[in-house]
Amino acid sequence: MTKDEVQKLVEMVAGRLAEAQDRTWLPTPVRPEPPGDPMPGALPAWAGGAQGLSDVAPTRRSTGQPRHRPAYPAMVVAARQAAAARGPAPLPSGSAAGAERRASTKTRREVKIGVSNRHIHVSAADFEALFGKGRSPSVQRPISQPGQFASGETVAVAGPKGRIEGVRIVGPARGATQLELSPADCRALGIEAPVRVSGALEGSAGGLTLEGPAGKVALAGGVIVAQRHLHVAPQDGTVLGVKDGDRVALECGPAGRRMTLHDVVVRLGPGHATEVHLDLDEANAAGVKTGDSAAIVGRSAAPVRGRRALLTERGVAQMAARGEKVSAGGPYLVTPAARDRAKALGIWREET
Ligand SMILES: [Zn+2]
Repeated sequence: MTKDEVQKLVEMVAGRLAEAQDRTWLPTPVRPEPPGDPMPGALPAWAGGAQGLSDVAPTRRSTGQPRHRPAYPAMVVAARQAAAARGPAPLPSGSAAGAERRASTKTRREVKIGVSNRHIHVSAADFEALFGKGRSPSVQRPISQPGQFASGETVAVAGPKGRIEGVRIVGPARGATQLELSPADCRALGIEAPVRVSGALEGSAGGLTLEGPAGKVALAGGVIVAQRHLHVAPQDGTVLGVKDGDRVALECGPAGRRMTLHDVVVRLGPGHATEVHLDLDEANAAGVKTGDSAAIVGRSAAPVRGRRALLTERGVAQMAARGEKVSAGGPYLVTPAARDRAKALGIWREET
C-alpha cells in the first residue's frame, strides 16, 4: 500500500465518520466547571472579567501606561534608590542575586575615615625662620596621602586668647604656610577661621603667631578650618561613582551618635589615596575614629564650569557672617540688590 493509498483510505474513513455523526465527529469543547464557588456572585477567575480591558488594549486617550504597571517616573525613582542600596528593587528579582548585589553595592560605596588633628603645612622660608637656616622638615612617618609625611618638628601657636603647644608640621614644605585647626582650637586661640578646602586660602584667617626653637612667624593669613573632604584615588572614582569637585553625603558613626555629614568635597586625582578626612570636632561629634568606615549616601555633581551661581542678598549676608568679601569678578552672578547689600556691609570689592 502506497502513501497515497493510505491517505485516500484515511479520507474515506473520516468522510464516513462525519456522515455517520452528522458532520460533528470531533468532540464539542466543554468549558470545565470551576471547583466550588468561593464568592457567590463573583465572576470565576477564568471568565476574563477580572482583567481590565485597558490591560490588553490601552485606549489612545490613556496616559500611555497600561494600568497594571506603576507610573514610569515612580519606577525610575525606585530603581535609583535600589541602585544606591537605599530601598528594595521596584520589580521582584525573584532570587537572592538581587539581595547580594545590594549588599555588595553598599560595601563598595564605603570609605575609610581618617581623623586629622590640628596640623600645619609650612613654607620653606617660614620653616627656616622657625627652625634655623638651611633646615627642612624631617620625616617622622608617612601619612595616608602619597608623598606627605608627619615631620619630627612641632611649633607652638599663640593667639589673642590662648596658646596651643606641639602643633605637628606636615611635610614636605609647601608654597604657602597653611594652619588647619578645628573650630574648638579656633575658640581656644580666640580667632575665627573660615571653612576652606585645603589650598584655597582666599579670605583665610590670620592673627596668630607661630613659635619655633629658632624664631617666630606672625601669620597674616593661611589659617583655616579644613572643609571635610574625600580623597579619591583615580581608579576608585568609577567604583564610588564620584568625580573631582563633587559633594557627597556620608553616613557614619555608631548607634546613638550616627549622623550624615553633608558637603564632603571630593578631591580625585593622582596623588590621592581614597580616604575621607574629618577634623577632630567632626569625628568626636559623630563618634568615629581613624580606621572606621563611612558610607556614601548621596552625591551632588560638581558645578558646571562656566555656569555661575546666583548670589542673592541672603548669600551676601551669609558671606559677611563668614568674614568673606564679595568680588565683582567672583565665581557668582551678583544681583543688584546683593551688590548694594555688600557695599552697605563694606565687603564689596571691585577688583577680581
Ligand atoms: Zn586630606
